[in-house]
Amino acid sequence: MTEFSTGGGSRAERGYPQDVGGSPQEPPTPAPTDVPRETSAAPIGGFAVRTAAELADEAPDFDHDHATPLARAAEHVVLARHGARLRPPLGRPAATRVVVVANQKGGVGKTTSTVNIAAALAQLGQRVLVIDLDPQGNASTALGVEHHRGVPSTYDALVDGVPLEEVAAPSPEVEDLLVVPATIDLAGAEIELVSVVARESRLHKAIAGHPRVGTAAEAGEDRLDYVLIDCPPSLGLLTLNALVAGNEMMIPIQAEYYALEGLGQLLETVEMVKAHLNPALVVSTILVTMYDARTRLAAGVAEEVREHFGEQVLRTTIPRSVRVSEAPSYGQTVMTYDPGSPGALSYLEAAREIATKGASA
Ligand code: ADP
Ligand code: MG
Repeated sequence: MTEFSTGGGSRAERGYPQDVGGSPQEPPTPAPTDVPRETSAAPIGGFAVRTAAELADEAPDFDHDHATPLARAAEHVVLARHGARLRPPLGRPAATRVVVVANQKGGVGKTTSTVNIAAALAQLGQRVLVIDLDPQGNASTALGVEHHRGVPSTYDALVDGVPLEEVAAPSPEVEDLLVVPATIDLAGAEIELVSVVARESRLHKAIAGHPRVGTAAEAGEDRLDYVLIDCPPSLGLLTLNALVAGNEMMIPIQAEYYALEGLGQLLETVEMVKAHLNPALVVSTILVTMYDARTRLAAGVAEEVREHFGEQVLRTTIPRSVRVSEAPSYGQTVMTYDPGSPGALSYLEAAREIATKGASA
């Protein structure tokens, strides 16, 4: 379980209801009185974030989390609005982690998970770059970055070898979050790349050549902590480029019937890439998405996924939530659109799990 906290004073100052965090249910948290409020190091009013599903289920290890869901929501709203200054400390990885978000099935939550985990990691103080590798450009849209024809994009980096740092744009809503947008040109790249030398390692070359990618010794303190690659729903040359470029893979799985169908093919592709192109690649993370706590089906699917993958499956599942699906139409992730919603809190917790797991790996 992870804990973080924000300034209790700020809650009052910002007009949050006083009973939100100060209700009798709130545990006697180890609120230090010797730290000034409104600073990055002020852990006041500790609380933990759980998914809505976990809250609903009252999971067996629920004993040490007494804050109300509303209190947790309010805390994260404060955190999100304060940005960097209220970030709880979260260790940086020793070297840039390049995470490929892939599943050849469409509509399982790849893009949604990429953008929200990226934003959550950035909100938690990490330096993050998202590479939109899907010609649809949905990740670019959700991160509020232009991606019409003519905008410097993934296509330029992949096909023309333009340095990645020259095609990345800042996401307007979140600090320390950069995006390489995908334009419709990328749809042609799949075919154009066929005749190109080392066609499957173009993205690897682009990422490895980024001056902010690598260890502290290679890339300094300003290095990127995470590069997240949002893949298209196919196992073509674009996804292959991502698998060759990554150190690890995150597979979002929708908690739906047939969830595991097609995963065999994906894992075979991963094995092929490991054997011939990128021995370092590991499937580090499985994320169950669009979990509907009211249905037995979702619980059954989640259980089956855990049986198959064990440790790789994040404890946090992402609930199905309207707020998550409407955020992109505002050019936002749910992390800024509605930071206190169950979807945002779940993605925040998933991001923390990813960051902590990677640190110990
Ligand atoms: P993929 O990138 O795998 O094709 P998306 O991330 O685009 O999948 O998600 C498919 C659809 O499901 C989108 O319309 C998205 O808004 C919606 N969606 C994804 N996650 C959730 C969620 N947790 N709750 C509700 N809708 C979601
Ligand atoms: Mg997508």
